[in-house]
Amino acid sequence: MLWLSFFAFTVLVIFACEFSQILLLRQMSKKEAYSNIDKARKDILQSYDKSSLSEFIGSLIHAADSYGVNVRLIGKDGALLFPTAGMEEGENLSADYSGELTQITGNLNSIYQANSDTFAYSYEFKDENGNTICYLYITDNVYMDKSAFVSMIFQTVYISSVMLIVLTVVSGALSMYISRPITDLTEKAKKMGYGNFSINFKEESASGYSEIVELSETLNYAENELSKADQMQKELIANVSHDFKTPLTMIKAYASMIQEISGDNPEKRAKHTQVIIDESDRLASLVNDLLDLSKIRAGIDAVKPVLFNLSDCLRTVVDRFDYLRETAGYRFNLDVADDLYVEADKSKISQVLYNLIGNAVNYTGDDKTITVRLYNENGLQHFSVQDTGKGIAPEELDSIWERYYRSTETHKRPVKGTGLGLSIVKTILDKHGFAFGVRSEVDKGSTFYIDFPAHNVAELSD
Ligand code: ADP
Repeated sequence: MLWLSFFAFTVLVIFACEFSQILLLRQMSKKEAYSNIDKARKDILQSYDKSSLSEFIGSLIHAADSYGVNVRLIGKDGALLFPTAGMEEGENLSADYSGELTQITGNLNSIYQANSDTFAYSYEFKDENGNTICYLYITDNVYMDKSAFVSMIFQTVYISSVMLIVLTVVSGALSMYISRPITDLTEKAKKMGYGNFSINFKEESASGYSEIVELSETLNYAENELSKADQMQKELIANVSHDFKTPLTMIKAYASMIQEISGDNPEKRAKHTQVIIDESDRLASLVNDLLDLSKIRAGIDAVKPVLFNLSDCLRTVVDRFDYLRETAGYRFNLDVADDLYVEADKSKISQVLYNLIGNAVNYTGDDKTITVRLYNENGLQHFSVQDTGKGIAPEELDSIWERYYRSTETHKRPVKGTGLGLSIVKTILDKHGFAFGVRSEVDKGSTFYIDFPAHNVAELSD
Protein backbone atom coordinates (compact mmCIF):
# COMPACT_ATOMS: atom_id res chain seq x y z
CA MET A 1 0.00 0.00 0.00
CA LEU A 2 2.75 2.38 1.02
CA TRP A 3 4.68 1.66 -2.14
CA LEU A 4 1.58 2.09 -4.30
CA SER A 5 0.82 5.43 -2.67
CA PHE A 6 4.40 6.62 -3.19
CA PHE A 7 4.26 5.50 -6.79
CA ALA A 8 0.92 7.13 -7.58
CA PHE A 9 2.00 10.33 -5.89
CA THR A 10 5.25 10.48 -7.88
CA VAL A 11 3.48 9.86 -11.20
CA LEU A 12 1.01 12.58 -10.44
CA VAL A 13 3.69 15.09 -9.47
CA ILE A 14 5.86 14.43 -12.54
CA PHE A 15 3.03 14.75 -15.02
CA ALA A 16 1.48 17.74 -13.33
CA CYS A 17 4.83 19.60 -13.29
CA GLU A 18 5.90 18.77 -16.83
CA PHE A 19 2.61 19.44 -18.57
CA SER A 20 1.77 22.60 -16.73
CA GLN A 21 5.26 23.87 -17.59
CA ILE A 22 4.79 23.17 -21.32
CA LEU A 23 1.31 24.68 -21.41
CA LEU A 24 2.48 27.75 -19.56
CA LEU A 25 5.43 28.21 -21.90
CA ARG A 26 3.19 28.06 -24.96
CA GLN A 27 0.73 30.45 -23.39
CA MET A 28 3.51 32.89 -22.53
CA SER A 29 5.07 32.79 -25.98
CA LYS A 30 1.68 33.57 -27.56
CA LYS A 31 1.36 36.60 -25.31
CA GLU A 32 4.85 37.73 -26.19
CA ALA A 33 4.20 37.52 -29.94
CA TYR A 34 1.09 39.60 -29.49
CA SER A 35 2.83 42.28 -27.47
CA ASN A 36 5.83 42.47 -29.89
CA ILE A 37 3.48 43.15 -32.78
CA ASP A 38 1.61 45.74 -30.74
CA LYS A 39 4.77 47.69 -29.86
CA ALA A 40 6.13 47.56 -33.44
CA ARG A 41 2.76 48.74 -34.79
CA LYS A 42 2.67 51.76 -32.46
CA ASP A 43 6.25 52.83 -33.34
CA ILE A 44 5.63 52.55 -37.09
CA LEU A 45 2.31 54.39 -37.16
CA GLN A 46 3.73 57.17 -35.01
CA SER A 47 6.64 57.77 -37.39
CA TYR A 48 4.31 57.60 -40.45
CA ASP A 49 2.36 60.60 -39.13
CA LYS A 50 5.37 62.83 -38.49
CA SER A 51 8.33 61.93 -40.68
CA SER A 52 9.78 61.83 -44.09
CA LEU A 53 9.77 58.70 -46.26
CA SER A 54 13.35 57.79 -45.41
CA GLU A 55 12.65 58.19 -41.73
CA PHE A 56 9.54 56.06 -42.16
CA ILE A 57 11.53 53.28 -43.88
CA GLY A 58 14.08 53.59 -41.05
CA SER A 59 11.30 53.12 -38.53
CA LEU A 60 10.19 49.91 -40.31
CA ILE A 61 13.69 48.48 -40.08
CA HIS A 62 14.09 49.65 -36.50
CA ALA A 63 10.78 48.10 -35.37
CA ALA A 64 11.63 44.81 -37.07
CA ASP A 65 15.05 44.73 -35.34
CA SER A 66 13.93 45.87 -31.91
CA TYR A 67 10.91 43.61 -31.50
CA GLY A 68 12.02 40.63 -33.62
CA VAL A 69 8.94 40.81 -35.83
CA ASN A 70 8.52 40.61 -39.63
CA VAL A 71 7.51 43.96 -41.12
CA ARG A 72 6.22 44.08 -44.70
CA LEU A 73 4.67 46.65 -46.99
CA ILE A 74 2.37 44.94 -49.51
CA GLY A 75 1.01 46.60 -52.65
CA LYS A 76 -2.67 46.65 -53.63
CA ASP A 77 -2.02 43.78 -56.00
CA GLY A 78 -0.29 41.68 -53.37
CA ALA A 79 3.31 42.40 -54.50
CA LEU A 80 5.96 42.80 -51.79
CA LEU A 81 7.13 46.45 -51.67
CA PHE A 82 9.31 46.34 -48.56
CA PRO A 83 11.71 44.83 -47.84
CA THR A 84 12.83 44.12 -51.31
CA ALA A 85 14.74 40.99 -52.09
CA GLY A 86 18.36 41.38 -50.94
CA MET A 87 17.51 43.82 -48.13
CA GLU A 88 17.28 41.00 -45.67
CA GLU A 89 20.25 38.85 -46.25
CA GLY A 90 19.79 35.13 -46.26
CA GLU A 91 16.03 35.40 -46.17
CA ASN A 92 14.17 33.80 -48.96
CA LEU A 93 11.43 36.35 -49.23
CA SER A 94 8.32 35.64 -51.13
CA ALA A 95 7.53 38.47 -53.53
CA ASP A 96 3.91 37.65 -53.91
CA TYR A 97 1.39 38.15 -51.10
CA SER A 98 -1.76 38.03 -53.17
CA GLY A 99 -2.74 34.82 -51.34
CA GLU A 100 -2.73 36.72 -48.02
CA LEU A 101 -4.55 39.79 -49.40
CA THR A 102 -8.04 38.74 -48.30
CA GLN A 103 -6.76 38.00 -44.81
CA ILE A 104 -4.90 41.35 -44.71
CA THR A 105 -7.81 43.44 -45.94
CA GLY A 106 -10.31 41.49 -43.87
CA ASN A 107 -8.52 42.16 -40.50
CA LEU A 108 -7.47 45.78 -40.88
CA ASN A 109 -6.33 47.60 -37.72
CA SER A 110 -6.34 44.54 -35.49
CA ILE A 111 -3.86 42.00 -34.13
CA TYR A 112 -5.14 38.55 -34.97
CA GLN A 113 -4.01 34.94 -35.04
CA ALA A 114 -3.16 34.22 -38.68
CA ASN A 115 -2.63 30.51 -38.01
CA SER A 116 -1.90 28.35 -34.97
CA ASP A 117 1.73 29.57 -34.78
CA THR A 118 1.57 33.12 -36.16
CA PHE A 119 0.09 36.42 -35.03
CA ALA A 120 -0.40 39.23 -37.54
CA TYR A 121 -1.41 42.89 -37.87
CA SER A 122 -2.51 44.73 -40.98
CA TYR A 123 -3.03 48.40 -41.69
CA GLU A 124 -4.06 50.30 -44.80
CA PHE A 125 -2.09 53.45 -45.90
CA LYS A 126 -4.22 55.85 -48.03
CA ASP A 127 -3.52 59.01 -50.03
CA GLU A 128 -5.44 62.31 -49.66
CA ASN A 129 -8.19 61.05 -51.98
CA GLY A 130 -8.73 57.95 -49.92
CA ASN A 131 -7.13 55.59 -52.42
CA THR A 132 -5.11 52.67 -51.05
CA ILE A 133 -1.31 53.16 -51.32
CA CYS A 134 -0.23 49.93 -49.69
CA TYR A 135 -0.73 47.69 -46.68
CA LEU A 136 1.45 47.36 -43.59
CA TYR A 137 1.69 43.70 -42.65
CA ILE A 138 3.47 42.74 -39.40
CA THR A 139 3.77 39.09 -38.31
CA ASP A 140 5.46 37.26 -35.46
CA ASN A 141 5.83 33.54 -34.88
CA VAL A 142 4.95 32.06 -31.56
CA TYR A 143 8.26 31.18 -29.93
CA MET A 144 7.08 27.67 -29.17
CA ASP A 145 5.39 26.60 -32.35
CA LYS A 146 3.33 23.46 -32.82
CA SER A 147 6.21 21.18 -33.75
CA ALA A 148 8.31 22.43 -30.82
CA PHE A 149 5.29 21.84 -28.62
CA VAL A 150 4.84 18.26 -29.86
CA SER A 151 8.53 17.46 -29.55
CA MET A 152 8.57 18.85 -26.01
CA ILE A 153 5.64 16.62 -25.12
CA PHE A 154 7.59 13.63 -26.46
CA GLN A 155 10.63 14.68 -24.49
CA THR A 156 8.53 15.00 -21.39
CA VAL A 157 7.03 11.56 -21.79
CA TYR A 158 10.52 10.16 -22.32
CA ILE A 159 12.04 11.90 -19.29
CA SER A 160 9.02 11.04 -17.17
CA SER A 161 9.29 7.37 -18.10
CA VAL A 162 12.96 7.26 -17.14
CA MET A 163 12.19 9.08 -13.90
CA LEU A 164 9.33 6.71 -13.20
CA ILE A 165 11.59 3.69 -13.44
CA VAL A 166 14.12 5.31 -11.11
CA LEU A 167 11.43 6.45 -8.71
CA THR A 168 9.72 3.06 -8.71
CA VAL A 169 12.93 1.53 -7.45
CA VAL A 170 13.59 4.35 -4.97
CA SER A 171 10.03 4.43 -3.64
CA GLY A 172 10.01 0.62 -3.40
CA ALA A 173 13.17 0.71 -1.30
CA LEU A 174 11.88 3.60 0.78
CA SER A 175 8.54 1.99 1.52
CA MET A 176 10.26 -1.24 2.46
CA TYR A 177 12.53 0.71 4.80
CA ILE A 178 9.50 2.33 6.42
CA SER A 179 7.11 -0.60 6.49
CA ARG A 180 9.36 -3.51 7.39
CA PRO A 181 9.87 -2.53 11.04
CA ILE A 182 6.11 -1.86 11.33
CA THR A 183 5.27 -5.29 9.94
CA ASP A 184 7.78 -6.89 12.28
CA LEU A 185 6.39 -4.99 15.25
CA THR A 186 2.85 -6.07 14.31
CA GLU A 187 3.95 -9.70 14.21
CA LYS A 188 5.60 -9.38 17.60
CA ALA A 189 2.60 -7.57 19.09
CA LYS A 190 0.40 -10.47 17.92
CA LYS A 191 2.66 -12.88 19.77
CA MET A 192 2.42 -10.68 22.86
CA GLY A 193 -1.38 -10.85 22.53
CA TYR A 194 -1.11 -14.62 22.97
CA GLY A 195 0.62 -14.11 26.31
CA ASN A 196 4.29 -14.12 25.37
CA PHE A 197 5.81 -11.32 27.46
CA SER A 198 9.48 -12.02 26.72
CA ILE A 199 9.64 -10.23 23.36
CA ASN A 200 12.17 -7.48 22.84
CA PHE A 201 10.54 -4.82 20.65
CA LYS A 202 13.64 -2.65 20.81
CA GLU A 203 15.45 -4.79 18.23
CA GLU A 204 13.35 -3.07 15.56
CA SER A 205 14.61 0.33 16.55
CA ALA A 206 18.21 -0.53 15.60
CA SER A 207 17.52 0.12 11.92
CA GLY A 208 14.49 2.33 12.44
CA TYR A 209 13.72 6.02 12.51
CA SER A 210 12.59 7.96 15.55
CA GLU A 211 8.86 7.09 15.30
CA ILE A 212 9.66 3.39 15.23
CA VAL A 213 12.08 3.76 18.13
CA GLU A 214 9.32 5.48 20.10
CA LEU A 215 6.74 2.88 19.13
CA SER A 216 8.95 -0.03 20.11
CA GLU A 217 9.78 1.65 23.42
CA THR A 218 6.05 2.15 24.08
CA LEU A 219 5.37 -1.48 23.20
CA ASN A 220 8.15 -2.60 25.52
CA TYR A 221 6.63 -0.48 28.27
CA ALA A 222 3.16 -1.89 27.58
CA GLU A 223 4.61 -5.40 27.59
CA ASN A 224 6.24 -4.73 30.95
CA GLU A 225 3.00 -3.44 32.45
CA LEU A 226 0.98 -6.30 30.99
CA SER A 227 3.39 -8.86 32.30
CA LYS A 228 3.27 -7.19 35.74
CA ALA A 229 -0.54 -7.26 35.67
CA ASP A 230 -0.44 -10.87 34.51
CA GLN A 231 1.93 -11.77 37.35
CA MET A 232 -0.23 -9.91 39.87
CA GLN A 233 -3.33 -11.66 38.67
CA LYS A 234 -1.65 -15.04 39.10
CA GLU A 235 -0.46 -14.02 42.58
CA LEU A 236 -3.91 -12.75 43.46
CA ILE A 237 -5.57 -16.01 42.48
CA ALA A 238 -2.94 -18.04 44.35
CA ASN A 239 -3.20 -15.89 47.46
CA VAL A 240 -6.97 -15.56 47.46
CA SER A 241 -7.44 -19.28 47.08
CA HIS A 242 -4.90 -19.86 49.82
CA ASP A 243 -6.70 -17.49 52.14
CA PHE A 244 -10.05 -18.98 51.29
CA LYS A 245 -8.74 -22.42 52.05
CA THR A 246 -7.58 -21.66 55.62
CA PRO A 247 -10.95 -20.48 57.00
CA LEU A 248 -12.78 -23.16 55.03
CA THR A 249 -10.56 -25.87 56.54
CA MET A 250 -11.14 -24.38 59.99
CA ILE A 251 -14.90 -24.24 59.48
CA LYS A 252 -15.00 -27.82 58.30
CA ALA A 253 -12.77 -29.04 61.15
CA TYR A 254 -14.77 -27.28 63.85
CA ALA A 255 -18.10 -28.36 62.39
CA SER A 256 -16.88 -31.97 62.42
CA MET A 257 -15.68 -31.50 65.98
CA ILE A 258 -19.11 -30.28 67.06
CA GLN A 259 -20.74 -33.19 65.28
CA GLU A 260 -18.49 -35.83 66.75
CA ILE A 261 -17.22 -34.53 70.09
CA SER A 262 -18.54 -31.30 71.49
CA GLY A 263 -22.19 -31.51 70.41
CA ASP A 264 -23.31 -32.42 73.90
CA ASN A 265 -20.95 -30.14 75.77
CA PRO A 266 -22.51 -26.66 75.71
CA GLU A 267 -19.33 -24.88 76.76
CA LYS A 268 -17.10 -26.48 74.12
CA ARG A 269 -19.83 -26.28 71.54
CA ALA A 270 -20.17 -22.52 72.07
CA LYS A 271 -16.39 -22.08 71.71
CA HIS A 272 -16.28 -24.11 68.53
CA THR A 273 -19.28 -22.46 66.93
CA GLN A 274 -17.64 -19.09 67.71
CA VAL A 275 -14.60 -20.16 65.68
CA ILE A 276 -16.91 -21.06 62.81
CA ILE A 277 -18.63 -17.67 63.07
CA ASP A 278 -15.27 -15.80 63.19
CA GLU A 279 -13.88 -17.67 60.22
CA SER A 280 -17.10 -17.07 58.24
CA ASP A 281 -16.78 -13.35 59.05
CA ARG A 282 -13.23 -13.41 57.75
CA LEU A 283 -14.35 -15.03 54.54
CA ALA A 284 -17.16 -12.48 54.20
CA SER A 285 -14.84 -9.50 54.68
CA LEU A 286 -12.36 -10.97 52.18
CA VAL A 287 -15.11 -11.32 49.61
CA ASN A 288 -16.39 -7.81 50.38
CA ASP A 289 -12.95 -6.27 49.94
CA LEU A 290 -12.43 -8.09 46.66
CA LEU A 291 -15.79 -6.85 45.44
CA ASP A 292 -15.09 -3.29 46.63
CA LEU A 293 -11.75 -3.21 44.87
CA SER A 294 -13.05 -4.55 41.58
CA LYS A 295 -16.06 -2.22 41.68
CA ILE A 296 -13.97 0.89 42.36
CA ARG A 297 -11.45 -0.11 39.72
CA ALA A 298 -14.08 -0.81 37.12
CA GLY A 299 -15.63 2.58 37.86
CA ILE A 300 -19.02 1.03 38.76
CA ASP A 301 -18.77 2.44 42.25
CA ALA A 302 -18.33 6.03 41.14
CA VAL A 303 -16.86 8.69 43.41
CA LYS A 304 -19.60 11.05 44.63
CA PRO A 305 -17.93 14.13 46.09
CA VAL A 306 -19.60 16.25 48.77
CA LEU A 307 -18.22 18.95 51.05
CA PHE A 308 -17.83 17.51 54.56
CA ASN A 309 -16.06 18.11 57.85
CA LEU A 310 -12.87 16.05 57.58
CA SER A 311 -11.88 16.71 61.21
CA ASP A 312 -15.14 15.20 62.51
CA CYS A 313 -14.95 12.32 60.05
CA LEU A 314 -11.41 11.47 61.21
CA ARG A 315 -12.41 11.57 64.90
CA THR A 316 -15.32 9.20 64.20
CA VAL A 317 -12.99 6.75 62.48
CA VAL A 318 -10.49 6.88 65.38
CA ASP A 319 -13.37 6.28 67.82
CA ARG A 320 -14.01 2.93 66.13
CA PHE A 321 -10.69 1.75 67.57
CA ASP A 322 -11.74 2.68 71.14
CA TYR A 323 -12.18 -0.97 72.11
CA LEU A 324 -8.44 -1.51 71.54
CA ARG A 325 -7.59 1.40 73.81
CA GLU A 326 -9.76 -0.08 76.54
CA THR A 327 -9.00 -3.77 76.13
CA ALA A 328 -5.50 -4.05 74.65
CA GLY A 329 -3.69 -0.96 75.95
CA TYR A 330 -3.28 0.88 72.63
CA ARG A 331 -2.50 4.60 72.81
CA PHE A 332 -3.80 7.05 70.25
CA ASN A 333 -2.14 10.51 70.17
CA LEU A 334 -4.57 12.82 68.41
CA ASP A 335 -3.47 16.14 66.98
CA VAL A 336 -6.47 17.06 64.85
CA ALA A 337 -7.33 20.67 63.93
CA ASP A 338 -11.02 21.58 64.14
CA ASP A 339 -13.35 22.20 61.22
CA LEU A 340 -11.20 21.36 58.23
CA TYR A 341 -13.38 20.68 55.23
CA VAL A 342 -12.80 18.70 52.10
CA GLU A 343 -14.78 17.95 48.95
CA ALA A 344 -14.68 14.20 48.42
CA ASP A 345 -16.66 10.97 48.66
CA LYS A 346 -17.21 10.83 52.42
CA SER A 347 -17.78 7.09 52.86
CA LYS A 348 -14.79 6.21 50.68
CA ILE A 349 -12.49 8.65 52.50
CA SER A 350 -13.68 7.13 55.83
CA GLN A 351 -12.68 3.73 54.44
CA VAL A 352 -9.25 5.08 53.45
CA LEU A 353 -8.67 6.56 56.94
CA TYR A 354 -9.90 3.34 58.56
CA ASN A 355 -7.57 1.17 56.47
CA LEU A 356 -4.53 3.38 57.18
CA ILE A 357 -5.18 3.63 60.92
CA GLY A 358 -6.00 -0.10 61.03
CA ASN A 359 -2.62 -0.85 59.41
CA ALA A 360 -0.85 1.42 61.92
CA VAL A 361 -2.52 -0.53 64.73
CA ASN A 362 -1.52 -3.84 63.15
CA TYR A 363 2.09 -2.90 62.53
CA THR A 364 2.97 -0.53 65.41
CA GLY A 365 5.68 -1.46 67.92
CA ASP A 366 5.49 -2.80 71.44
CA ASP A 367 4.60 0.60 72.90
CA LYS A 368 1.30 0.26 70.99
CA THR A 369 1.33 3.96 70.14
CA ILE A 370 -0.31 5.49 67.10
CA THR A 371 -0.17 9.21 66.27
CA VAL A 372 -2.87 10.73 64.08
CA ARG A 373 -2.49 14.31 62.76
CA LEU A 374 -4.61 16.64 60.68
CA TYR A 375 -3.57 20.25 60.10
CA ASN A 376 -3.74 22.97 57.50
CA GLU A 377 -0.44 23.96 55.92
CA ASN A 378 0.36 25.87 52.72
CA GLY A 379 -3.19 25.58 51.44
CA LEU A 380 -3.30 21.81 52.02
CA GLN A 381 -5.02 19.75 54.67
CA HIS A 382 -2.31 17.41 55.73
CA PHE A 383 -3.37 14.08 57.26
CA SER A 384 -0.86 11.57 58.65
CA VAL A 385 -0.88 8.44 60.73
CA GLN A 386 2.36 7.34 62.35
CA ASP A 387 3.28 4.08 64.04
CA THR A 388 6.39 2.90 65.86
CA GLY A 389 6.63 -0.50 64.25
CA LYS A 390 9.20 -2.34 62.18
CA GLY A 391 8.75 -0.05 59.20
CA ILE A 392 8.88 -0.95 55.53
CA ALA A 393 12.07 -1.79 53.61
CA PRO A 394 12.86 0.86 50.94
CA GLU A 395 12.61 -1.68 48.12
CA GLU A 396 9.09 -2.56 49.23
CA LEU A 397 7.84 1.00 49.50
CA ASP A 398 6.45 1.08 45.96
CA SER A 399 5.06 -2.39 45.80
CA ILE A 400 2.90 -2.24 48.96
CA TRP A 401 0.38 -0.14 47.02
CA GLU A 402 0.48 -2.17 43.85
CA ARG A 403 0.35 -5.59 45.39
CA TYR A 404 -3.21 -6.79 45.19
CA TYR A 405 -2.80 -9.04 48.08
CA ARG A 406 -0.31 -10.04 50.71
CA SER A 407 -0.87 -13.22 52.58
CA THR A 408 2.23 -13.53 54.75
CA GLU A 409 0.79 -13.35 58.21
CA THR A 410 3.83 -12.64 60.35
CA HIS A 411 2.08 -11.72 63.53
CA LYS A 412 -1.30 -11.71 65.15
CA ARG A 413 -3.23 -8.62 64.12
CA PRO A 414 -5.58 -6.78 66.38
CA VAL A 415 -7.46 -5.45 63.33
CA LYS A 416 -8.49 -7.97 60.73
CA GLY A 417 -6.70 -7.35 57.45
CA THR A 418 -7.47 -8.97 54.17
CA GLY A 419 -4.30 -7.86 52.42
CA LEU A 420 -6.22 -5.58 50.08
CA GLY A 421 -6.30 -2.50 52.33
CA LEU A 422 -3.62 -0.41 50.60
CA SER A 423 -4.81 -1.34 47.12
CA ILE A 424 -8.23 0.03 48.05
CA VAL A 425 -6.62 3.16 49.56
CA LYS A 426 -4.60 3.80 46.40
CA THR A 427 -7.52 3.23 44.05
CA ILE A 428 -9.81 5.59 45.98
CA LEU A 429 -7.21 8.36 46.35
CA ASP A 430 -6.17 8.08 42.71
CA LYS A 431 -9.81 8.49 41.68
CA HIS A 432 -10.00 11.66 43.77
CA GLY A 433 -6.66 12.91 42.49
CA PHE A 434 -5.29 13.47 46.00
CA ALA A 435 -1.57 13.23 46.72
CA PHE A 436 -0.58 10.52 49.19
CA GLY A 437 2.39 8.46 50.22
CA VAL A 438 4.43 6.87 52.94
CA ARG A 439 7.63 7.72 54.78
CA SER A 440 9.16 4.80 56.57
CA GLU A 441 12.34 3.81 58.35
CA VAL A 442 13.11 0.22 59.15
CA ASP A 443 12.72 -0.49 62.90
CA LYS A 444 11.52 3.05 63.60
CA GLY A 445 8.04 3.02 62.09
CA SER A 446 6.03 4.34 59.19
CA THR A 447 4.01 7.46 58.47
CA PHE A 448 1.26 7.26 55.86
CA TYR A 449 0.00 10.67 54.68
CA ILE A 450 -2.60 12.29 52.43
CA ASP A 451 -2.69 15.90 51.22
CA PHE A 452 -6.31 16.98 50.86
CA PRO A 453 -6.93 20.19 48.93
CA ALA A 454 -8.14 22.89 51.35
CA HIS A 455 -11.64 24.34 51.18
CA ASN A 456 -12.77 27.77 52.18
CA VAL A 457 -14.82 27.24 55.33
CA ALA A 458 -17.09 30.15 54.41
CA GLU A 459 -18.48 28.24 51.41
CA LEU A 460 -19.33 25.10 53.29
CA SER A 461 -22.63 23.33 53.56
CA ASP A 462 -21.93 20.02 55.25
P1 ADP B 1 -2.50 -6.13 54.95
O1 ADP B 1 -2.08 -5.10 55.95
O2 ADP B 1 -3.83 -6.69 55.22
O3 ADP B 1 -1.47 -7.16 54.67
P2 ADP B 1 -2.45 -3.88 53.20
O4 ADP B 1 -2.78 -3.75 51.75
O5 ADP B 1 -3.15 -3.00 54.13
O6 ADP B 1 -2.66 -5.40 53.56
O7 ADP B 1 -0.91 -3.65 53.32
C1 ADP B 1 -0.04 -4.27 52.41
C2 ADP B 1 1.30 -4.52 53.07
O8 ADP B 1 1.95 -3.28 53.35
C3 ADP B 1 1.19 -5.19 54.41
O9 ADP B 1 1.12 -6.59 54.29
C4 ADP B 1 2.47 -4.73 55.11
O10 ADP B 1 3.55 -5.55 54.74
C5 ADP B 1 2.71 -3.35 54.55
N1 ADP B 1 2.21 -2.31 55.49
C6 ADP B 1 1.06 -1.64 55.42
N2 ADP B 1 0.96 -0.73 56.42
C7 ADP B 1 2.10 -0.84 57.15
C8 ADP B 1 2.61 -0.19 58.32
N3 ADP B 1 1.92 0.77 58.95
N4 ADP B 1 3.82 -0.58 58.78
C9 ADP B 1 4.53 -1.53 58.14
N5 ADP B 1 4.10 -2.19 57.04
C10 ADP B 1 2.90 -1.87 56.55
